[in-house]
Amino acid sequence: MLNRRKFLALSTLTAPLALASRHLMARPLTEKGKMWPGSLKTQGQPSVKFGEKPIVISTWDFGQAANEGAWKVLSQGGHALDAVEAGVKIPEADPNNQSVGMGGLPDRDGKVTLDACIMDGMGNCGGVAALEHVVHAISVARKVMENTPHVLLVGQGATQFALEQGFPKENLLTPKSEAAWKEWLKTSHYQPVMNVENQLYHKQTGDMPGGPNNHDTIGMIAIDASGKLGGACTTSGMAYKLRGRVGDSPIIGAGLFVDDEAGAATSTGVGEEVIRICGTHLVVELMRQGRSPQAACEEAVKRIVQKGPERSKTLQVGFLAISPQGEIGAYALQKGFTYAVRTGSINQVYPAPSYYA
Ligand code: ASP
Repeated sequence: MLNRRKFLALSTLTAPLALASRHLMARPLTEKGKMWPGSLKTQGQPSVKFGEKPIVISTWDFGQAANEGAWKVLSQGGHALDAVEAGVKIPEADPNNQSVGMGGLPDRDGKVTLDACIMDGMGNCGGVAALEHVVHAISVARKVMENTPHVLLVGQGATQFALEQGFPKENLLTPKSEAAWKEWLKTSHYQPVMNVENQLYHKQTGDMPGGPNNHDTIGMIAIDASGKLGGACTTSGMAYKLRGRVGDSPIIGAGLFVDDEAGAATSTGVGEEVIRICGTHLVVELMRQGRSPQAACEEAVKRIVQKGPERSKTLQVGFLAISPQGEIGAYALQKGFTYAVRTGSINQVYPAPSYYA
């Protein structure tokens, strides 16, 4: 039994240790206007200045066009939440983007189903999963957040809610995506094909190198001029998935997590892997404990490797994170994950560093 005297003696011994480890974990504070000391800077990554606002970052090359939509709001002093909603609506409306919104690749039954969620830094959030016939899943997610006592609506209920809220009913299956699905039906082999030139993957699966990828997501996180954070995440999910399959993108803490105190994170890639580790919640909580956004993204990717060392070699997952002070992190399992950054002085797409070379 630990008596009071022993307990006090122990705590006197451990207190300096606890203090020391907290000290080690603490992030070096950088003067306003100076560059971040983090590893991203040394790898040809964006040099965002400490405390620079507003900032918006998002997944993949198509994030650049989406960032422009967000920037229109942010540059005029608008709210982060309005900015990310406006931003991701751009790829949602693009029929040539086959992994988000209109024109998304369908499930194995030929139905386009959308997953999305939105969150601010105070814990306000909403999402829809397996939504059909409505292009702007992100705006439906926002209505769930603002007009219901719930966080997540799924399937027919989500679609019914969207129509009741006045969203137009549309056919999301474009001729191009329908043709791709019909081609897929010839083999009906479910296989995530990542947006990457990954030699090992192509060797193992026999897929054409650089062949058309069949999943991606727009995940976007932003800091507005007042320092508030917001995030949005929207996708048509994995092409030819089982009917009813839901990925990480509409799940708060998996595809997206935002906290004004600690930072924001979003993800893309095989959602099952992200859900297994509560990916973006993990990233944000690591930042809260003192990790840089970059170190936090790297730890989340390593966790995926630990949980499935073999599995992780053949699939893609990427994380993006931003601290409340505007430091950026980006890391993926495989080479080929890109992300777009928009600030007052930067408007560029960067390749993210990766776990596997
Ligand atoms: N995360 C998405 C999903 O699993 C797909 C992707 O981002 O590639 O549905």
